[in-house]
Amino acid sequence: MAPDDFAPSSELLASGPLGQADQSHALDTHAAEPIPAAARAEIERLLLSGDLFRYTAPKDAPVALLETEFAELMGSRYALAVSSCSAALFLSLKALDLPEGAKVLIPAFTFAAVPSAVVHAGCVPELVEVGEDYRVDIADFRARLPGAAAVIISHMRGHTSDMDAIMALCDAAGVPVVEDAAHSLGTLWHGRKIGTIGRVGCFSFQSYKMVNAGEGGILVTDDPEIAARAVIMSGAYEENWKKHPGLQNSFCNWQNRLPLYNLRMQNLSAAVIRPQLPLVAERVARGRAGHDHVAARLNGSALLSVPAPLAPEERAPDSIQFNLVGGWSDAEARAFQRAAKARGVSVQVFGLSEGNARAYWNWRFLGDLPDLPRTRAMLMRACDVRLPTRLSREELDFIADAILAAVADVR
Ligand SMILES: *Cc1c(COP(=O)(O)O)cnc(C)c1O
Repeated sequence: MAPDDFAPSSELLASGPLGQADQSHALDTHAAEPIPAAARAEIERLLLSGDLFRYTAPKDAPVALLETEFAELMGSRYALAVSSCSAALFLSLKALDLPEGAKVLIPAFTFAAVPSAVVHAGCVPELVEVGEDYRVDIADFRARLPGAAAVIISHMRGHTSDMDAIMALCDAAGVPVVEDAAHSLGTLWHGRKIGTIGRVGCFSFQSYKMVNAGEGGILVTDDPEIAARAVIMSGAYEENWKKHPGLQNSFCNWQNRLPLYNLRMQNLSAAVIRPQLPLVAERVARGRAGHDHVAARLNGSALLSVPAPLAPEERAPDSIQFNLVGGWSDAEARAFQRAAKARGVSVQVFGLSEGNARAYWNWRFLGDLPDLPRTRAMLMRACDVRLPTRLSREELDFIADAILAAVADVR
């Protein structure tokens, strides 16, 4: 079904009386976005020719066209498509040429792939406190910045930290910023595209992001040395770098002087992504309107709070986060999750689900984990609900009704 003709079934709207609703009324918020029909002809062509490797064709391979189109969309000089956003983050750090064991600041509220990319790049992540508005705590950031060689800012679930303060502090200290914009495609900050403010910006095409290719990622930068280094390390061996425009001088410096990690994207992924790029603006507009509608309804409850965006931010959400406020116990928070589930809506409290990859205490591969009381308190009461941008107003109201009724069930 195309995103725009997704209609709610009548049974989905029939929320039963208290206690009688069951999961047959559940709304499938986990289904990914369908792939536009326009992708099929190109996939068929690729299957018939077998031309799946990005560097086989002399020019205009789907991956190369994607890079040109994405760079244009973001207004960036260079783009490099890779196998995932995690790969893009890893390559960004490698391209910055940081010393072994360098300290890299990351927010304590992010996906486990972020500290993993830092470790993989031979660096040491230092976690920064995140407030109840899901944004980097600037006082803690300022205190931890001395001695850092780089910073990754995750715009977690699209929530944009104070990039004015972060860039001012980092520019003054000469520390490069990598933006993890995996889940922020389409978000604006003072009208500027998120992912283009730091030295490098990284995006994801994993299925639950704004553009769905199953897997995939891309990095953007205006810095030719970083772009050239990332291109070579992504796996542009021998003279394949000649197929990346505008970097010839930089490549000559780096050829055969960098290891190859082979994190390339293949042509089939680009064929799935390219027809979705023209849909991003529409998805962003629908996502923002849907999110703001549900947010206004949830904020009508004294026991829920949806943090407001910072003033310069225009969001591009495909999910909603809200806090349980007004003295909820763990038991009540768990009961609320169950009550919402019974009413057909899956709510995840980040810190209460076992082994959650976004709860920093589960990143045991880091060894000794610090205690970050502000972030911990936030994670224990912050709820996460997917709001795919295709949802109709009726479906959004179904979700808001279920959440508000689940609050009333418990409190
Ligand atoms: C999804 C996500 C990632 C990882 O993206 P992949 O493409 O799956 O590697 C990293 N950071 C954030 C904030 C994400 O949401």
